[in-house]
Amino acid sequence: MNVAVEIKQDNSQEIEHLDVLVIGAGISGIDAAYHLKKECPGKSFALLENQESFGGTWITHKYPGIRSDSDLYTFGYSWKPWSGPPIATAPEILKYLDESIDENDLRDAIRFNHEVKTASWSDKEKRWMLSIHRKDTDETFFISCNFLWMCQGYYRHSEGYTPDFPGAEHFKGRIAHPQTWPEDLDYKNKKVVVIGSGATAATLIPAMAEDCAHITMLQRSPTYFFAAPNRNELVDTLRELDVPEDWIHDIARRKVLSDQQTITRRSFEEPEKLKKELIDVAQQYLGNAIDVDPHFTPTYRPWRQRLARVPDGDLFQSIKSGKASVVTDQIETFTENGIKLKSGAELEADIILTATGFNMCVLGDIQFVINGKPLNFADCWAHRGILYSGIPNMAWVFGYLRTSWTMRSDLVSGFVCRLLNHMKEKGLEMVTPELREEDKDMPELPFVDPENFNAGYLNRSMDIMPKQGDRQPWIFSQNYYAEKDEIPAADLEDGTLNYK
Ligand SMILES: Cc1cc2nc3c(=O)[nH]c(=O)nc-3n(C[C@H](O)[C@H](O)[C@H](O)COP(=O)(O)OP(=O)(O)OC[C@H]3O[C@@H](n4cnc5c(N)ncnc54)[C@H](O)[C@@H]3O)c2cc1C
Repeated sequence: MNVAVEIKQDNSQEIEHLDVLVIGAGISGIDAAYHLKKECPGKSFALLENQESFGGTWITHKYPGIRSDSDLYTFGYSWKPWSGPPIATAPEILKYLDESIDENDLRDAIRFNHEVKTASWSDKEKRWMLSIHRKDTDETFFISCNFLWMCQGYYRHSEGYTPDFPGAEHFKGRIAHPQTWPEDLDYKNKKVVVIGSGATAATLIPAMAEDCAHITMLQRSPTYFFAAPNRNELVDTLRELDVPEDWIHDIARRKVLSDQQTITRRSFEEPEKLKKELIDVAQQYLGNAIDVDPHFTPTYRPWRQRLARVPDGDLFQSIKSGKASVVTDQIETFTENGIKLKSGAELEADIILTATGFNMCVLGDIQFVINGKPLNFADCWAHRGILYSGIPNMAWVFGYLRTSWTMRSDLVSGFVCRLLNHMKEKGLEMVTPELREEDKDMPELPFVDPENFNAGYLNRSMDIMPKQGDRQPWIFSQNYYAEKDEIPAADLEDGTLNYK
């Protein structure tokens, strides 16, 4: 049932109007601003950011060791060379973003502490009206725009995902989620258990191991890691030859993408061989410290999640040193002093860290209303995973899950700017993706194919996500190698974009 929603507006307030509003000043929002400025000169725009600074993911997460799990040649922008080591820490990424903002004169466009609460579209006005809560002054006001560019990421920044662990209330120590890292958490000489074995656990453990009495990675099932030195030999050689930094960046990107394409192909064609190679590298780093079977021998095909890079094998080195260990088991219950496992064993702990992932969040938890009716995003079809059926003048940047996120945000930025310029040229004010007659029999497929990508946070949230179809432009392929050619060439007059 659609319930009409009224968003209260104070008519005495003068409402600022901009051509484009970008929501979020993370890596995607800054990318969008760069492209808007370069490719749509003359368009007025602003970035509305809930937090008090830029960077999104890279300021939200403050846990020890926080770093990227993909290389910065591809996680960085096409338009700004990366000159540090491939895997970067959050402070290094924030410095890179800070320079990106300054070098392109984007700082004045960002409005911090602006939390967008509602977004209401009117066909009559052909504009979005946003209600905004300004957190530093506690004011609420409205800004309108013609086009809404959602760069709010894909997970809820305020709180991570923690399953209901039985007996958690009995545990006498501290329980913390890395996403909301307590500043006063003193882990020196403490026994720590980290639940989970994804990229976060792999980062936390080597960063904390030296200081803890002992740190244990407790996993239900193993993960693939890609352990390698945190350097890129090709980049080092090019630098020795005095090749300009922008060339090095471009060449390194091409090399990383080509290597990843090979891994993707091999994960389908020869998964067992690839699996063995990844596990062998882990074993080399571990020596005889522990056996890779079962702790580092996953049952799933490699590359169904982004392979977490372990720079210099640091996770394995912590385990080898004896400061860290890994347990593969299931949780029976938390106890006063730790965790009782299904095998009957008990893990003692002073601190339990739940590296159990995040909660998906669609459209930044903003209440969307289209012509007075609340939007159910799950009813929409993804139009190349950029625009959404029935939602006028709105794009959402959803990056790659295997290739670096930014590779897609760059492609999306190019597409949105091309669309805005196309509309300007033709004197059009409104674009809404709509199924053609021949699309109406499409099967409703999940936004991301779980066979292709098996992240827990996605599987938990498919019911709130839009759907995709079985033909273009209703496919969200998550395949950079196809999209790098398809998106820039996408026909803006293919009958699926209804203009007014
Ligand atoms: C710990 C961690 C490590 C990761 N490492 C990698 C990696 O190495 N490689 C990779 O490709 N991907 C990685 N990812 C995925 C990562 O989230 C993205 O790559 C990327 O940082 C997302 O950028 P973004 O700008 O799209 O979104 P975010 O970084 O999520 O930023 C969104 C911004 O929008 C703001 N916002 C949200 N809602 C509202 C609202 N209602 N009003 C106003 N502002 C709002 C938020 O405050 C935030 O600042 C990682 C994710 C996590 C959690």
